[in-house]
Amino acid sequence: MHPAQRRPLIAGNWKMNLTRDGAVALARSVARHAAGACVDVAIFPAFVHIDAVLSALRTDGTEVPVGAQDCSDAPNGAFTGEVSLGMLKDIGCHWVLTGHSERRHVIGETDDIVASKTAAALGAGMTCVLCIGETLDQREGGETDAVNERQLRAALGGISPADMLKLVIAYEPVWAIGTGRTATPDDAQLAHAAVRHVLQDLFGAEMAHRTRILYGGSLKAANAPDLLAKPDIDGGLVGGASLEAGEFGAIIDAAAALAVSA
Ligand code: PEP
Repeated sequence: MHPAQRRPLIAGNWKMNLTRDGAVALARSVARHAAGACVDVAIFPAFVHIDAVLSALRTDGTEVPVGAQDCSDAPNGAFTGEVSLGMLKDIGCHWVLTGHSERRHVIGETDDIVASKTAAALGAGMTCVLCIGETLDQREGGETDAVNERQLRAALGGISPADMLKLVIAYEPVWAIGTGRTATPDDAQLAHAAVRHVLQDLFGAEMAHRTRILYGGSLKAANAPDLLAKPDIDGGLVGGASLEAGEFGAIIDAAAALAVSA
């Protein structure tokens, strides 16, 4: 059973997919589905689609947070190709992902870079979804909890309790992202409970209790009910399945059904 203060969150990470029209159409469909649901829903389109998606939702009068998949930690200046938090806020974007595994393992972001972006995002008043998770080698070496703890302590060491109120964690085992392999619900629950334990050590029991920890990694309608039913899994960060309105809607429905029955 999820404590009342941890309202489930289902977030869609669209990565580098869709056209502008496709992103707008998908956003409209997600927002219609999310209206009145007893769970939070957020979407993360590509940078160049955020403005069009926000405008369309504003026109429709629907309210789904639209976030960015990354940000710069610098306020402005000679950083070719980067996008600042000020630019995002200027267009009405107030959510951001940091530390996604593709940025850590494909682009090469270090714990220090993720920490700096997380601090900058929270300092700018954004809601930040900090992604953590172990690689397959690390899992097979029994290092899952140690890796998560290292990534958490690196990113959150300098974060104030007030800023923690705008932080969501996404535990995403790297080997489960985009592979069709998911952690078993029991394994995911163990990892989430260990993450919450680290939060307790860093910020105390109450903060640990209220912070949402999402699961990510090949989450889809078929496996969502079992994963989302676990007590320390407070929603999902969804990649591939968030690109299909029906599939993503079914994950929202699964979270909503569990929230109602809790
Ligand atoms: C993700 O990119 O955050 C993710 C979880 O992807 P997928 O659902 O496709 O595994």
